[in-house]
Amino acid sequence: MEARLSRAETLQAVGTLTGGVAHDINNLMTVVLGNADLLDEELEAQPGARAKVDQIAGAAERAAALTGRLLAFAREQPLEPRSVDVPALVEQLLPILRTSLPDSVSLRVQALPGLPPAHVDPGQLEVALLNLVVNARDAMPRGGVIDIGITFDRPDGRSDPLDGRPLPDECLIVSVKDHGTGMTPEVLSKALDPFFTTKPPGAGTGLGLSMAYGFAKQSGGHIELSSTPRQGTTVRIFLPAASVPAIARAARPDAPAAGGG
Ligand code: ADP
Repeated sequence: MEARLSRAETLQAVGTLTGGVAHDINNLMTVVLGNADLLDEELEAQPGARAKVDQIAGAAERAAALTGRLLAFAREQPLEPRSVDVPALVEQLLPILRTSLPDSVSLRVQALPGLPPAHVDPGQLEVALLNLVVNARDAMPRGGVIDIGITFDRPDGRSDPLDGRPLPDECLIVSVKDHGTGMTPEVLSKALDPFFTTKPPGAGTGLGLSMAYGFAKQSGGHIELSSTPRQGTTVRIFLPAASVPAIARAARPDAPAAGGG
């Protein structure tokens, strides 16, 4: 492909990605530090200490995977999507997600039974979910419930309203819903822009939603935001279901990745 990024665009892209990685590492480190503190208190007598050590190791591995993404970008290597059992991935991620929430915020998960797998990069899906849950938490300073839903849809020829690209024939939809501050129409219209944030300096980088959007697009899906001030926000990530050919492709690592660049 001849379309090359200009030097300025490349620097901007690297900056965006680096900022995003820093943002995500920051979220993961909250988990590492939170568990380390708990461990410190509990290690003496509690048998549950082992699980917390596992969480620390899991978060550290994810942080390492993020730096791997940075290196993959530098080498211009696309990430490998594969067939992912999304409800199982969410279930495994729950302890990590819960560690980033105060006691006043609870997390509920509801998955439609019998869902097909999705064709995505599982590490990127985890990071996107962590970002959405952190946003939902920040929108509910007095606490509340965050609902994660996993469902299925056949978009029937519909296209992404943001860029007009057709949606996959079969989609898994992962939604994160809060009952928090919500967004004004103006904030909603800018929320996916890189570096747009309404949070105080140090609290927000404005990269969580744009990274989640980038992940959804890269996977061949899209993102929908719906929000009402003082009522709450729902973010839906549409991901392509793993069709039989996609599973066959995933089984042959030398084959071209689905969806193209
Ligand atoms: P950041 O969280 O670092 O600000 P994001 O890209 O994730 O970056 O979000 C951009 C902005 O969108 C936030 O600053 C906030 O104004 C708004 N936003 C995102 N998620 C929510 C939510 N669940 N509820 C209310 N506002 C939100």
